Amino acid sequence: MQRRQLMQGLGLAAVATMSGCASLSGARPQVLVVGAGWGGSTVAKYVRMLSDQRVDVTLVEPNEAFVSCPISNLVLSGRRQLADITHRYDQLVQRHGVRLVRGRVEAVDPVQRRVRLADGSTLAYDRLVLAPGVDMMWDGVQGLQAAHAQGRILHGWKAGPETVALRRQLQAMRDGGTYAIVIPEAPYRCPPGPYERASVIAAYFKREKPRSKVLILDANPDVTSKGPLFKKAWAEVYGPMLEYRSQHKAVAVDAATNTVKFEIQDDVRADVLNVLPPMRAGDIAVKTGLANANARWCHVNFLNFESTVAPHVHVIGDSIQIAQGMPKSGHMANSHAKVCAAALVADLTGLPVNPHPMLTNVCMSFVDDEHVIHVASVHEYVPTQKTFRTIGGSGGVSDVRSDLEAVYTQGWARNIWSDMLG
Ligand SMILES: Cc1cc2nc3c(=O)[nH]c(=O)nc-3n(C[C@H](O)[C@H](O)[C@H](O)COP(=O)(O)OP(=O)(O)OC[C@H]3O[C@@H](n4cnc5c(N)ncnc54)[C@H](O)[C@@H]3O)c2cc1C
Repeated sequence: MQRRQLMQGLGLAAVATMSGCASLSGARPQVLVVGAGWGGSTVAKYVRMLSDQRVDVTLVEPNEAFVSCPISNLVLSGRRQLADITHRYDQLVQRHGVRLVRGRVEAVDPVQRRVRLADGSTLAYDRLVLAPGVDMMWDGVQGLQAAHAQGRILHGWKAGPETVALRRQLQAMRDGGTYAIVIPEAPYRCPPGPYERASVIAAYFKREKPRSKVLILDANPDVTSKGPLFKKAWAEVYGPMLEYRSQHKAVAVDAATNTVKFEIQDDVRADVLNVLPPMRAGDIAVKTGLANANARWCHVNFLNFESTVAPHVHVIGDSIQIAQGMPKSGHMANSHAKVCAAALVADLTGLPVNPHPMLTNVCMSFVDDEHVIHVASVHEYVPTQKTFRTIGGSGGVSDVRSDLEAVYTQGWARNIWSDMLG
């Protein structure tokens, strides 16, 4: 009774009891997950599985189905259709008993432990997990938000209808035209993603519009991931058809002329301009005041992914301030989710939280229609430093691009989609 009064005095509505899964209200503990992407779907499923379905999970997501960013570059190159990377949420509901609510969370009240949805309804929680991915910092590139809203200059960095719209722009481009991808300064979602995109679009041009050109205009001083392997493929497979230019930080676009302006370098005009804006944590995390790393990303306690600002609010996936060597990737969001789910279930059932969690990552990139390169790593929690560190020698990159790795990539995608949603 004393413990109960103490917790209520601290404004905590529900805690675990040693006797099993129960909140103080006597009801089953409620975990609420915002966002059913890579992190959110995984954490919802794993809380249900690890708790033996004794913790209730509600998952809020505005989209009807999950559309995977990994493999979406192949939709742009015409090797896959959007349907191939679209998956329903049915199994989360039917097999795992997740309650799925179609909607968008507009506000979080971390004191009352409630969220408000766009339709005005509210949902209460004992533990909240925010997995809203990234949102764009439109102010970083003048004119881009309006050009994007008009459908003229797209980013295609959230897979879905915009991926198809960008594909149409590429199809409509004349042979002999130029496609330019503009990359923001790191950190951004998926370090190798832009280079993969440039590569597979060059492969498409080679097949179908051989007089066309791919320009990579990168704000960074060099290719941010798998640089030597990408550059070798570009030189050997595409030659002058693909050009890489570093230190090109975009500051403005002119949609009327399809021109991008840079901080230092000369303006560039392209037939298809694909500008990736600088990115930050998803809006809902920022609005809730959780983005306490440069007002951009959310610091978390890496043992359980709890926000360092708001108790009982956890943040996973692209929205967090990363540890050293930790990419913003789908595989990593899936890994965060499992550590977070295990910690939540332990906490809610009176078990000790694992003091030594591990994370894994692999990012595979197509460099043409048939060849893939990878980077992999294993990360361990180091208690003395309260962060994750890459284990030396645990991963690495491909020796060479290979068609076998393309087969592995398809297997990786099928397996991880099933791990999240199946
Ligand atoms: C072109 C491209 C290629 C990529 N390739 C790879 C790859 O090969 N391997 C890899 O591991 N990663 C890859 N990635 C990166 C990967 O897609 C992201 O790292 C991953 O999506 C991050 O997962 P997340 O859960 O943080 O966010 P997301 O998967 O984006 O999920 C966020 C979800 O939250 C929902 N949401 C947002 N706000 C709200 C709200 N207020 N209320 C309710 N729901 C909300 C969104 O609708 C969305 O469904 C790639 C990315 C791109 C763009």
